[in-house]
Parts: sequence; C-alpha cells; structure tokens
Amino acid sequence: MRKRLSSMDTAPDGSNLAGVRHIILVLSGKGGVGKSTISTQIALALRHAGKKVGILDVDLCGPSIPRMLNAHGQDVHQCDSGWVPVYVDQEKSISLMSIGFLLERPDDAIVWRGPKKNAMIKQFVGDVAWGDLDFLIVDTPPGTSDEHITTMDALRPFNPMGAVVVTTPQAVSIGDVRRELTFCKKMGLPVVGIVENMSGFVCPHCTECTNVFSKGGGEELARHAGVPFLGCVPLDPLLTQSLEQGKDFIKEFPKSAAYSSIT
Ligand code: ADP
Repeated sequence: MRKRLSSMDTAPDGSNLAGVRHIILVLSGKGGVGKSTISTQIALALRHAGKKVGILDVDLCGPSIPRMLNAHGQDVHQCDSGWVPVYVDQEKSISLMSIGFLLERPDDAIVWRGPKKNAMIKQFVGDVAWGDLDFLIVDTPPGTSDEHITTMDALRPFNPMGAVVVTTPQAVSIGDVRRELTFCKKMGLPVVGIVENMSGFVCPHCTECTNVFSKGGGEELARHAGVPFLGCVPLDPLLTQSLEQGKDFIKEFPKSAAYSSIT
C-alpha cells in the first residue's frame, strides 16, 4: 500500500454518501462468473442513459475493475472530505474507487486478515468523496463473507436499493446463488434481480448460439425464489476483448451478441 494513503484518518461518518441517490450491490456465489463484468456494464449502461455513476470495488483480493475501465495505474488524491475517486471518462460521469489504485505494483497481493479488510471497507464506504451520484454500484467479493456483512452494515443507514445477483447457468453456481439470496433475506436487502451471465456462446462467424453450459437455470431460480429475472448475457468474445483493453463495450460494439442483453 502507498503509505500516504494508508494513513487516512478522516472519520467515516457517512456524509460522503449523502449525495448518492441509489446504491446497488452486485453479488455472486463464486468468483469468475462475471460479477465485475456485470458491474462495469451496468455502470456504462447507466452512464449512456445520462446518469452519473460511481463504482465502489470492495473485491479487495481481486480488484479487476480499474483494468476493465482502463483506469489502472491512476492515483487517488485526497481532499478535505476524503479520497477523490478516479474519473474514468472525460465527462466525469463514471467515478471509481478500488484498492487497485492504492497498490504499489499492480500484481501486489492483498494478504490481510478479516479485521484489516473490514477496516478498509469501512474507509471505502465512509471516506470517498463521491459528490452527487445517481447510482453507486458496489462490486463485492464472491460469496457471503465477513466482508459482505461489513459492507452491508456500513451501507444500511443509506438504504441500499438492493442487490443484483450474477450467476452462470451451471447447477453448482446456481446452488451458490441460493445462498446469496438467503444472505440478502437475512440482511434485509431487496433483490433487484438475477442476471444469468455466460449464457450460451454466440459464434461470431455464423451467429449460431451454443449453450456451452446449460441454459435457463437463472430464470428458473428467479421464478422459484420470487425475485425478478433481469436477463441472460451470452459469452461474447468482443466483451472479453473490451474488458481486456478497457474499452467502452456499449459504445464500441453495438452490433455484438451481448449488446442487446446489456443495454
Ligand atoms: P468475477 O468478477 O465474477 O470474478 P469477472 O467479471 O472478472 O468475474 O469475469 C471473469 C472473466 O470472464 C473476465 O476475463 C471477463 O472478461 C470474462 N467474461 C465475463 N463475462 C463475460 C461474457 N459475458 N462474455 C465474455 N467474457 C466474459
């Protein structure tokens, strides 16, 4: 960690969230299902709809969002009310805070015990000077850990709008999603809906869709659980490419397979 930033001493009194209208948490039962991908695409879609969006990346051990939005390597600065988030676009309509900005080297690992992680999360929730935002998207670590409870405890006074739960179609992931839904219920967090990601692969040559994994599990689960189903996002090589190169997928690839499901 960069020393000058780890010594922040402002009190997390929550006033930095006073100008944030809606807070949405993005959850997944396990890693690699596309939680950060969906977080970034929700933020980009909202931005293209004219909204001001912040992204808080509390996935401390896997902070992938700075790279996905081509913001890696940027510095976080301080102002009187805390950390100034990094703006990822010229119009300053998407701001981002991630531990990725606080690491000395991009491949540094966060090897922290729970209390230190929880303290960092509390600082992230309290000490980032977001200003006025229509939406704050909170990308959480996979599972239902201590970090989730800390995040929820810190955000509860600001009445989060709810959780978007991301799954892939495979049964094992769906099992994990049930645990996410239980977590939301226990925490009193409404479920905005379930997204089934990597739902089929659309061949870029013949546009035929192959269901690499099974399909429809997310929708079935949503029906059973009585929560909204937000839709399927196919595996799309252009989306992978956009994320790897930090491009705005919605702007760059409006004819791609995943575009219509994201927008
Ligand atoms: P998580 O946050 O759940 O760990 P990520 O969002 O980091 O998962 O996604 C894992 C990898 O899968 C990333 O390399 C991302 O580019 C890729 N990916 C996720 N969803 C899709 C998709 N629908 N189409 C293509 N690639 C995807």
